Amino acid sequence: MSEASLNDRQFFGHPIGLRTLFLTEMWERMSYYGMRALLVLYMTGAVTGFNPGLGWSQLDAQAIYGVYVGLVYFMVVPGGWLADNILGHQRAVLYGAIIIALGHLTLAVPLSQTFFLGLALVVLGTGLLKGNISTIVGKLYPDDDPRRDSGFTIFYMSINIGSTIGYGICGYLGEKIGWHWGFGAAGIGMLFGVYQYVRYQGLLGDAGALPNPMSDEARGRLVRYTQIALTLMIVAIALSLMGFVDINPRIFAENFAYFLTVVAGLYFIFLYFFAGLDAAERKNITLLFLLFIAAAAFWSGFDQSGGSLNIFARDYTDLVVSGFEVPVSWIQFVNPIFVVIFAPMFAAVWAHLARRNLDPSLPVKFAIGLIFMAISFMIMLAAVALAIETAPIGMRWLLLTYLLQTWGELTLSPIGLSAFSRYAPKRYVGQMFGLWFLASAIGGVLAGLLGGEAMDEGLASMSPVFTFMIEYYLAIAVGVLIAAWLLRRKSAG
Ligand code: GLN
Repeated sequence: MSEASLNDRQFFGHPIGLRTLFLTEMWERMSYYGMRALLVLYMTGAVTGFNPGLGWSQLDAQAIYGVYVGLVYFMVVPGGWLADNILGHQRAVLYGAIIIALGHLTLAVPLSQTFFLGLALVVLGTGLLKGNISTIVGKLYPDDDPRRDSGFTIFYMSINIGSTIGYGICGYLGEKIGWHWGFGAAGIGMLFGVYQYVRYQGLLGDAGALPNPMSDEARGRLVRYTQIALTLMIVAIALSLMGFVDINPRIFAENFAYFLTVVAGLYFIFLYFFAGLDAAERKNITLLFLLFIAAAAFWSGFDQSGGSLNIFARDYTDLVVSGFEVPVSWIQFVNPIFVVIFAPMFAAVWAHLARRNLDPSLPVKFAIGLIFMAISFMIMLAAVALAIETAPIGMRWLLLTYLLQTWGELTLSPIGLSAFSRYAPKRYVGQMFGLWFLASAIGGVLAGLLGGEAMDEGLASMSPVFTFMIEYYLAIAVGVLIAAWLLRRKSAG
């Protein structure tokens, strides 16, 4: 297998299986970001007019958005477990893609009653797909293959090409024709992904084809546990969909944020104290813990692009360009487009610095990411101040904000993915993508909670929340730098 994959250079010098994964992830992210761009606009849209929305309050809609993003990334953890132990990664990706498509197609039905069912399906499907597809990327390469890191970089491109297509098509259809057309387009995009995956799955060979080896009896037991868990989950989802459990979105979001923090905390405690690691491995866990905190804080700002900043674009920004009113979601184009433009430059800068032995350490890079995030919200503070005087304001404010956030993303996200696989204790590598995405989950819920506070009373409530965020990004950046410095001093001593 390793011989074959070393010689396999058919996709930009990489194994041909990467093409299958590239296109699958591209369509999945097309559907995810295309729909995400519309979600809050649809929930808070007026109930009357040519394209009626649900008319919900900012606090509720943003909280639901946060819980949705949080659940999408949280489900990567059980999705990874299911693939490792029962399904195998390839099958998990296939099932996930089909369930996601069904979810978006459910959202395409113009009924508010099926709205949460659609969201639940996208959540469950993404849990099966998102982490496992990254795992298969890693498995395409033999252990010491130097192409793995650049394989992940190519993969990161597919994410951003996908979201560009999603914002473009779903954003346009959803806002200009009807919300449900946008959701339907997301579903059709994911169906292209399913077709492509089924057709070219063979190119993946045995990478991620089979679950961990174990006795039939042991597997049978795990299957039974899974069936019980699945049944309970379906009952819980059904009861809440039918309105038997009264859920206050904001309180739910707050509790979910605590829950995720406790899960992550317990997992780190387990790894540090009870996983039988040696001193060097423990030091790596401390490092990953620092990165985890920085990443969670970072995503709590980043994911506001689909939440509060989306509303800022709709309500306070002049979107008319030479007579054409640009769809609100198109402003978010800048992020993926800037990723594709700047990713090679950032990679070149790191390589250049590395040749001079000046490559910043991981915590320094993550702190830089947070500082970019803080500056991006300083720009927003100025934008809010201007909008209080004369709304609507020009688009350049949001464009600059997203540019800075993208620079932050590039110092943190692609690097974080590979750091979590590189510094993970060997036996726990499989679960590390789950842990990495848990940071995204926490960030997502916080984005909804903070975004709700910020937009609650329009322009008046934004400045205090954005100021608070700037302070905590900077505080965490400084904290991570100090902790990393102490860690290094301790190990040097
Ligand atoms: N933009 C990246 C993706 O969609 C990272 C998102 C995240 O981890 N929050 O995969």
